[in-house]
Amino acid sequence: MIPYATTAEAEAALGRAMTWAEAAWYQYSAAMPDSWLHCHTTFILFVIYTITPLPLVVLEQFAPSIVLPYKLQPRVRLPLAASLRCYMEAACFFPLAVGFQLVSYPAAVKILRTRMGLPLPSVRETIAQLVVYSLMEDYLSYWIHRLLHTQWGYEKIHRVHHEFTAPTGFAMSYSHWAENLFLSIPALAGPVIVPCHITTQWLWFCIRLIEGINTHSGYHFPFSPSKLIPFYGGAEYHDYHHYAGGRSQSNFAPLFTYCDYIYRTDKKSRPSDVCELVHLCVFLRKWLQIPQVKASEAQESGRK
Ligand SMILES: [Zn+2]
Ligand SMILES: [Zn+2]
Repeated sequence: MIPYATTAEAEAALGRAMTWAEAAWYQYSAAMPDSWLHCHTTFILFVIYTITPLPLVVLEQFAPSIVLPYKLQPRVRLPLAASLRCYMEAACFFPLAVGFQLVSYPAAVKILRTRMGLPLPSVRETIAQLVVYSLMEDYLSYWIHRLLHTQWGYEKIHRVHHEFTAPTGFAMSYSHWAENLFLSIPALAGPVIVPCHITTQWLWFCIRLIEGINTHSGYHFPFSPSKLIPFYGGAEYHDYHHYAGGRSQSNFAPLFTYCDYIYRTDKKSRPSDVCELVHLCVFLRKWLQIPQVKASEAQESGRK
């Protein structure tokens, strides 16, 4: 809750006029309890988890010819019922998470030290924090994932997540409850060590979820903007990990490839970043050439 009764009071405290984003934040959150803002995280993630994987699931079922050329395991066609079961079982955790967030709110305030008022963080501060969070999460998740691939960890916990040898976006959160709990530690480590504004926290969890859905999508598109991110693992990288299943001792990192490279657990299941960029350029060139070819054809036929 913002401790200013009016925007004039808020601007007096800031010593400057509010930006449009700060004015919008003031309008939205001024009268809202902090515990409620804290619970927004789960609501936002629930909406993203429900919507983001849908286009590919629907296209695979009803227009497979459009997406099948880009499917990493084209022989595996997941029935709609299996996707729905995956979604329903994973979605059960979201109401539980809201309850947990409300109960744990007093402790979360002390541990996370999240800012909820004004001023809003600058773009530079937000990007710097997101980079730090990504690197920390990647490193910690890598080691937790490796522990989950020990015989005990796999049999007791991680086996559930590997039920899908050809994953779908909904499989991102399809895991044993203990795995969801363990893997929330790396995600929270960054915001605990480097406290941020609640809006940065929402952005961080959204990026993390969308990235997870992407790596579990089962598709690898030549025009994906993620190819421009250096050392990004992507769908093909994690898909191989699911394909290998319990035997897999490679491609553990969730986001980048550097941990697998350093600890020699990377499996060269994907072309190098240079090849990826070349593929992207070829695709864009072809795409841009279509109208040119048609124009030249039109000129030819005009001459005739
Ligand atoms: Zn695994
Ligand atoms: Zn996975």
